[in-house]
Amino acid sequence: MPPDLPIIITIDGPAGTGKSSVARALASRLGLDFLDTGAMYRAAAAIVIDHGIPHEDHRAIVEKVRSADLHFDWSMDPPAMLAWDRPINGRIRKPDVTSIVSPISAIPELRAHMVQKQRIIWHQHPRLVSEGRDQGSVVFPDAAVKFYLDADPAERARRRGDQLRAAGLPGDEARLLREIIERDRSDSTRPVGPLVCPPDAVRVDTTRLSFEDVVNRLEDEVRARIAALL
Ligand code: C5P
Repeated sequence: MPPDLPIIITIDGPAGTGKSSVARALASRLGLDFLDTGAMYRAAAAIVIDHGIPHEDHRAIVEKVRSADLHFDWSMDPPAMLAWDRPINGRIRKPDVTSIVSPISAIPELRAHMVQKQRIIWHQHPRLVSEGRDQGSVVFPDAAVKFYLDADPAERARRRGDQLRAAGLPGDEARLLREIIERDRSDSTRPVGPLVCPPDAVRVDTTRLSFEDVVNRLEDEVRARIAALL
């Protein structure tokens, strides 16, 4: 990779496809920064819960999230999510946050705020792998390479169960599958920034691929595209 080439690579897809781990590994192999936009929406959901803001009070939600000045500490690997300059990584993966993050992230004014923040982050980190639901479709429509990761819902529930059990937490796969299907439905049907596969994205079904296979596949694609450009 030419070390001074500005480049944005987007990875979108539903919950549990391994986007974050894949994006992080791809960024590391290519010497790029890694942006986890799900962490930003999770931070917003945590703020809503912890400040007792009614879900229908969109104005109060956006005001409080704005006041938190969500940003990342890029000296950490992966970058730590900060609200009011305090790290909240431990909070944002908790089940209560996961259970409301999709409806909260459907609030149009909140999405507008996040999209603006993500574009500012790109100006500060112009060599970036950004992952989420709307990165290739809405936030960075001119991205150099766009990917869409997908996998069978049962396989995604199995992977989440493995992750939770590895962390010493209960991983009931039937419940995880129901949650994944509900989050997919909610993320794909919202009117603003829905989860879609951009028409110019490379779609990768990871159901039967190992983690290494997926990262190799994406890295090969990016290197081939860059070589064709130079
Ligand atoms: O990727 P992760 O599972 O952490 O994302 C949590 C939730 O945040 C998603 O289910 C989705 O509702 C929301 N999200 C979003 N747009 C993004 C990233 C995440 O709406 N770009």
